Amino acid sequence: MTSNKTGWTLVFLFSLISVLIWTFMQSLSTRFVNISVTMTSLGQLTALVGTILLCITFILSTRLRAIERAFGGLDKVYVAHHIIGTVSFLLLLFHPLFLAIKFAMISASTALHFLIPSSDIALNAGIFSLTAMILFLLFTFFIKLNYQKWKITHKLLGTALLFALVHILFITSDISRNIILRYYIMAFVFIGIASFLYRSIFHIWLVKKYEYVVKDVKVSGSITNIILDAKEGQKLRHLPGQFVFISFPKIIKEFHPFTISSSPDEEGIRLSVKSLGDYTSNIQEIKKGDVALIEGPYGMFRSNAPSQIWIAGGIGITPFISLAKSLKDSKNNRDTKVDLYYVVGDKANAVFLEELNNIAKQNKNLRVITYFSAEKGRMNADFVSRSSGDLKDKDILLCGPVLMMRNLKEDFKKMGVKNSKIHMEEFALL
Ligand SMILES: Cc1cc2nc3c(=O)[nH]c(=O)nc-3n(C[C@H](O)[C@H](O)[C@H](O)COP(=O)(O)OP(=O)(O)OC[C@H]3O[C@@H](n4cnc5c(N)ncnc54)[C@H](O)[C@@H]3O)c2cc1C
Repeated sequence: MTSNKTGWTLVFLFSLISVLIWTFMQSLSTRFVNISVTMTSLGQLTALVGTILLCITFILSTRLRAIERAFGGLDKVYVAHHIIGTVSFLLLLFHPLFLAIKFAMISASTALHFLIPSSDIALNAGIFSLTAMILFLLFTFFIKLNYQKWKITHKLLGTALLFALVHILFITSDISRNIILRYYIMAFVFIGIASFLYRSIFHIWLVKKYEYVVKDVKVSGSITNIILDAKEGQKLRHLPGQFVFISFPKIIKEFHPFTISSSPDEEGIRLSVKSLGDYTSNIQEIKKGDVALIEGPYGMFRSNAPSQIWIAGGIGITPFISLAKSLKDSKNNRDTKVDLYYVVGDKANAVFLEELNNIAKQNKNLRVITYFSAEKGRMNADFVSRSSGDLKDKDILLCGPVLMMRNLKEDFKKMGVKNSKIHMEEFALL
């Protein structure tokens, strides 16, 4: 398990560099000499940092390995994408507002002229860029759409970046006056646009898709277990706890993320899917012999700590099955002591209990503890510490419903467990 400090440090540094170049162009005393000039300066600063951050959100969506490593897992990359995107949007929203205040000090009509389209290409491009952001982000923050429709609106945000490029190319400002600042910002905008084109169009050809064939499908209650074999020369290499994006071109073309619930040492791979919505319900129609395309693997949900607590809620058990199986296989992990808490409503929902007990029989260091919430109520950290002893030196891995993970994390922190020792895998990419 790696921390996501590298990624965040880089984001901070890239933003800071733009501010530093801007600062060295002119003394700060002249930049903030009176209200009107201060408004211009604030407008410029919000534009610089907002643009860098906007480009970074596109770069983060490429799913490149280096980015995943820098943030400590793809789910963390998407959390960062969400946070950075929100900050960038707010900064870019304030950019014209600060400038409008400056113009309002001359007259209300000057300010109004500045905010509505005119014959000025640069200004128009800026207005269109912000309008596109406001319009398409309504569907991220306020209007709930189903995932596929939302994804289309989110991809259209690329138009905001294209308009931003025109705005930056033609506007007369510090970016046009200072060549270093100009090239610095332009480099980011071009990388942002390249990232957008890569993920939304060219990934079809550029990102490797492994071809697999369905070997078996087993339905157990609301869980469908799909066992897949690689076609000749198509086997992907994965680590325990990782996930893939999978599509079944004949039945369901969309790619959805699922954790590999088998161990890397097994011949094929197994995915265990809980029916929740359209895709996961249709998955029961998959038959032996169907072809699947797989992108990945992704994820860094594992730990090397000698003593670990794993807590799974419902279908959140999938990464732990893979991790548990590979405990005995891997020389490095053979002495790792693990207490695995399997939290489900009742015994009927503990679909993987038998399999886990069989794994535990072969590994004395693995203890499986069931927790039936219908009987005992909400799972809490007290229960874990009573059963597993002092938690401070252990790594705690959580996977399950977001609310359960957040509550447990807070409980553990109150008990004195350090934040860095608690790791969560979310089954939703924000
Ligand atoms: C890292 C990771 C690992 C996962 N592992 C498993 C697993 O082992 N077993 C399991 O049953 N489920 C797993 N999931 C959850 C699974 O991906 C969703 O339940 C499924 O995609 C929902 O699709 P749907 O159309 O059935 O439901 P919907 O109701 O359409 O979607 C429900 C939610 O799932 C997410 N989602 C939907 N489509 C996509 C997509 N194409 N890409 C990304 N997210 C999407 C969205 O957050 C959406 O709000 C995992 C998710 C992630 C992020």
